Amino acid sequence: MSKNNENIFIEPWIDEEGWNADNFSEIETPCYVVSKSHLEKNLRILSQVEKDTGCHVLMALKGFSMFSMFPMARKYISGTEASSVNEARLGYEEFGKEVHVFSPSYTEDNIKEYLKYANHLVFNSFSQWNKFKDICHNKVSCGIRVNVEHQEVENPMYDPSSSNSHFGVTKSNFEVDNLEGIEGFHFHNLCENGADALERTLKVFEEKFGEFLPQMKWVNFGGGHHITRRDYDLNLLTKIITDFKKKYPHLEIYLEPGEAIALNAGVLIGSVVDIFSNTAVLNVSATCHMPDVLEMPYLPTILGAKTAIDGSDNVYRLVGPSCLTGDVIGKYSFSKPLVIGQKIIFLNMAIYTMVKNNTFNGVNLSDIVILDKNGKIKIIKKFGYKDFKNRLS
Ligand SMILES: *Cc1c(COP(=O)(O)O)cnc(C)c1O
Repeated sequence: MSKNNENIFIEPWIDEEGWNADNFSEIETPCYVVSKSHLEKNLRILSQVEKDTGCHVLMALKGFSMFSMFPMARKYISGTEASSVNEARLGYEEFGKEVHVFSPSYTEDNIKEYLKYANHLVFNSFSQWNKFKDICHNKVSCGIRVNVEHQEVENPMYDPSSSNSHFGVTKSNFEVDNLEGIEGFHFHNLCENGADALERTLKVFEEKFGEFLPQMKWVNFGGGHHITRRDYDLNLLTKIITDFKKKYPHLEIYLEPGEAIALNAGVLIGSVVDIFSNTAVLNVSATCHMPDVLEMPYLPTILGAKTAIDGSDNVYRLVGPSCLTGDVIGKYSFSKPLVIGQKIIFLNMAIYTMVKNNTFNGVNLSDIVILDKNGKIKIIKKFGYKDFKNRLS
């Protein structure tokens, strides 16, 4: 659900193609640059999972909603997963194919909107199901989210199985006699996990809820599968899904990764604006342009820099342009002293960034740029005063 990308993630497209700050010398900052060819590489892997297992892969829009890439993405995967009316509409209008929705907060007002766009609707509780089943069950395929209460994620902020999670119906709250009209189960229990974590989760899921599977039509294995990471065990994933399908041939299986869609497919480029006492002020902000740096928190990887340790050379504390004292990205060591105007490239910034950006303190949103397959840079969105003003009144 968020990213922890120190060291494990190297941006292969930058690596392999020898890109460095010089390639972006002309570009205005701050901007996100998303590599179309790297994104396509990820999508090919996900499409292969569909082919090898017969499952369906949905793009969770929460992590990556860059709709200019949807025409390419729709060639490879089955659809989108949304958790708000706006996401559902974006998936429906810009991606097409299947739209699956999970939300813990359906209301009399929004349910009709969801029904315009969704193929699957997943309920978070039996009270939500009771309230809306009559309106929904003839129009879409309805499912219930279950909480397997099996922990695979360390940070409770991203752990749906943590003891105070409000997601999904636990075994003890499960209403065996209230399943009429429910066609599927949804669990989402992972975050940046390998296939081994899915294997363990699935085992617990089957132990707790397996007896109801004969009466279901589908199971959604949620997101958090780090499928496109270099060391992900694709063979194990294929085996897990294939075995599951052998056991329950009547079930359709869905995966809805977010991070894995655009993992390592983009960078955020900023520039050094001022330098004093080993502090470098940048025009990119932790709190506005990469909020997970503060929320998670984590130290993002910078191309050509290292995490500062005792005795490191050219150590700088990188800070953002806002007036938040805590708008601090972190301490890094560079091979040479920084100079004003120099570009700083943050890796793995296509996910959970554009979707979370804000204009706090009037900080401008970061431009969005595509690095085309032929290496050309194309600016697709520039933001300005209007975007700041339009959110206020
Ligand atoms: C966040 C989320 C996802 C995607 O998670 P990633 O960690 O980005 O793969 C999928 N499904 C649901 C219900 C989610 O909340």
